[in-house]
Amino acid sequence: MKVKNLHDLFVEELKDLYSAEKQLLKALPKMAKAACSDELRQGFVEHLEQTEGQVARLEEIFEGLGVSPRGKKCLAMEGLIEEGKEIMEEDMDENVLDAALIAAAQKVEHYEIAGYGTVCTFAKLLGEDRAAELLQETLDEEKETDVKLTELAETTINAEAVAADE
Ligand code: FE
Ligand code: FE
Ligand code: FE
Repeated sequence: MKVKNLHDLFVEELKDLYSAEKQLLKALPKMAKAACSDELRQGFVEHLEQTEGQVARLEEIFEGLGVSPRGKKCLAMEGLIEEGKEIMEEDMDENVLDAALIAAAQKVEHYEIAGYGTVCTFAKLLGEDRAAELLQETLDEEKETDVKLTELAETTINAEAVAADE
């Protein structure tokens, strides 16, 4: 698709996020399965449920715009998920593995935060108020997830990973 104006770019960025979220729907259950800490596993499961809602929000936006959500693959998310897979294939101490899973998950959240921040701003500029509202909701969830991951790392997981070496 040729991007001629900001509206076209808005749609392209939304498609990229749609592809990213769809890839995450497949990756998050694997990350949950790999996590050793119950809290971390539960965190991944909860975020999987949120991700289903985020996909539904994007579908509502595409419907409102009258365009298909398909036609673009988010290569960045493919790469981030690939890195997550590499981690899971390694033979690590389980506490270190959890620290590594958090690191991978936070890279994903930061990518999403950048993407949703952008489309949320574009939606406002374009007068797409309903879309802006929905995108803000998802942006808030991604930020909240990132904060929770930081807290989990700083309060327990990292300390256990350090202790694993002693
Ligand atoms: Fe998401
Ligand atoms: Fe992308
Ligand atoms: Fe997320």
